[in-house]
Amino acid sequence: MAIATINPFTGRTEQEFEPHTDAEVEERIAATHAAFAELRRTSFAQRAEWMRAAAQLLEDDVEKLARIITIEMGRPIKGARAEVLKCAKGLRFYADHAEEFLAPEQLDDPSAVGASQAGTRYAPIGVVLAVMPWNYPLWQVLRFAGPALMAGNTGLLKHSSNVPQAALYLDTLFERAGFPAGSFHALLIPASRVEKVLRDPRVKAATLTGSEPAGRSLAAIAGSEVKHVVLELGGSDPFIVMSSADVDRAASVAVTARNQNNGQSCIAAKRFIVHTDVYDAFTRLFCEKVAALTVGDPLDEATDVGPLATESGRDELESQVADAVAKGAIVRTGGFVPDRDGWFYEPTVIEGVAPGMRLHLEEAFGHVATVYRVADREEAAAVANGTTFGLSSAVWTTDPDEEDWFVENLDAGAVFVNGMTASYPELPFGGVKDSGVGRELAAAGIREFCNLKTVWKG
Ligand code: NAP
Repeated sequence: MAIATINPFTGRTEQEFEPHTDAEVEERIAATHAAFAELRRTSFAQRAEWMRAAAQLLEDDVEKLARIITIEMGRPIKGARAEVLKCAKGLRFYADHAEEFLAPEQLDDPSAVGASQAGTRYAPIGVVLAVMPWNYPLWQVLRFAGPALMAGNTGLLKHSSNVPQAALYLDTLFERAGFPAGSFHALLIPASRVEKVLRDPRVKAATLTGSEPAGRSLAAIAGSEVKHVVLELGGSDPFIVMSSADVDRAASVAVTARNQNNGQSCIAAKRFIVHTDVYDAFTRLFCEKVAALTVGDPLDEATDVGPLATESGRDELESQVADAVAKGAIVRTGGFVPDRDGWFYEPTVIEGVAPGMRLHLEEAFGHVATVYRVADREEAAAVANGTTFGLSSAVWTTDPDEEDWFVENLDAGAVFVNGMTASYPELPFGGVKDSGVGRELAAAGIREFCNLKTVWKG
């Protein structure tokens, strides 16, 4: 795949970029390695000052950056702007909390281990490689980079080939904010050149957000090099609506949960699992609200849903729906490619998806919702857990006993009760099963790329 900005609204290539040569990649690895020697010796207070300056640069550049996001991957401009501001907030969060998250700990009774003092401290590990997806071109990267740099690590970014302008902005962001030159660099390289970078002895660990095959491939290489990895992979999150739920509110939130970012979010609700008592009411409202979404030019402030980011992503979604329909599923709204330029697909709701259909097992990475009817909570949890994924989940109920039961019984990295899944700097983020390993955000996220050093003094 060429490294290029291809506008999903028009399908036209706006700008192509030459991949970095091997010599340029070597230069960048050497620079991030050298910067680590400097950055690890700076104080939290100094790094926090630079991190706040980076947050300010994002805010100053909000309009320019939002436009880059929208032009490169089709996110409606309102959401793109919100993404930039969320990044600034995330960087400030780590400026404020990194020191406390990485504070040394002492045993209350060091004599138990024959010491006068004993405990742990967190040390940075060096250059971390981040392989990132296009769907939140800034947030995915900065939720890694903020904590990594605050811990004293340096970073190399291999971004998706379709968001080079976002990658190049991030390439200079931290240096402009005051961090030592080389603290963070982007590599404009195709996926096929990731292995060589990961095997470089100066690269100590890696994080990948993206598809399951990409994650498996990266983890296998990292495993053979005995390097730590964090993987944030796909999801097919359940959104369960039980009979006691506020059905109208659940249906409104369901529309956002499925259609945000043109449906291309790992934590988008994808499977709507509805108790039979409220199934008809929920499905009717849900379909009405989905059909009322404004589909159009993502640069238009009034647009709710824009084009899919890539032509292949749109075609994949279309073929998943076609497969389900051929096997007996029923389209309640949408379900077709509209007759217009760009990689559009109508926001879609489908009933009757069953085992044997691709949509039943695969992630739908676009705005296609499947609705399932269930008789009770046991069946709801069985359907919810009946996938290889386990990223997040949502459950709507006003019965406190049922809330706890679902929190206990859903196999997912998170359970959101009476709300939709979102990522917050304050809360850990990550999945179980094929959705990944490790956590980002909060204290858990910054500790992933640290050496938890035991210190014993006699
Ligand atoms: P993708 O094809 O896996 O691409 C993600 C990144 O990995 C890109 O930079 C890509 O580079 C690179 N890549 C692809 N194959 C690779 C390989 N074999 N070795 C090393 N790097 C490789 O994913 P996508 O289609 O862009 O993104 C959609 C997927 O990401 C969905 O499954 C979604 O659920 C998941 N996702 C997960 C999270 C999460 O936090 N759990 C968040 C967002 C998205 P190129 O662009 O050059 O191919």
